[in-house]
Amino acid sequence: MKVGVLALQGAFIEHEKTLRALGVEPVEVRLPEQLSDLDALIIPGGESTTIGKLAVRFDLLEPLRAFAQTKPVWGTCAGMIVLAKDIGRDQPLLGVIDITVNRNAFGRQVDSFETNLSVPELGADPFHAVFIRAPLVTGVHDGVQVLARLGDGGIVAVRQGHWLATAFHPELTPDDRFHRYFLGEVAGLPLEL
Ligand code: GLN
Repeated sequence: MKVGVLALQGAFIEHEKTLRALGVEPVEVRLPEQLSDLDALIIPGGESTTIGKLAVRFDLLEPLRAFAQTKPVWGTCAGMIVLAKDIGRDQPLLGVIDITVNRNAFGRQVDSFETNLSVPELGADPFHAVFIRAPLVTGVHDGVQVLARLGDGGIVAVRQGHWLATAFHPELTPDDRFHRYFLGEVAGLPLEL
């Protein structure tokens, strides 16, 4: 299987490390042709405005949109923003997942924090989640499954068919269950583990 990591900006190296630990050799994606034989793609955290601008500059935005129509894509943090349909402002996005997202939703005082989330799809053990200037999902529309909420009900992980989005950074902690869930459940790839 070939799994790409969008490598324009942000925390792509950390995703690559987790993929390698799972026995998957990642492909760094910076050019449209690098998408051609991928089975799935991860869009990392970073700065969504920068990722969007670079995607436009490298003529990647339309190829990424086309890829996402048929192939599994997971966005973490900035990647969640890039996948969302509505973020309430104008910046280059793929605009595929039917959610409304509020960028930098947690304000200055708590702009980064860690917390344990209950994620039933991953089993009974809580998932330790790292949030860094994270977005929050403020609206979900038909067909979107909520995978995790904060204690106050705020939505921080969703799935819509072959698209996954998390407001936090599973690539920054040793728990690889979200990577396995994406590859195995969302992408349907044969993970031999
Ligand atoms: N605040 C960033 C943005 O708006 C996301 C932060 C992150 O990816 N850690 O794109």
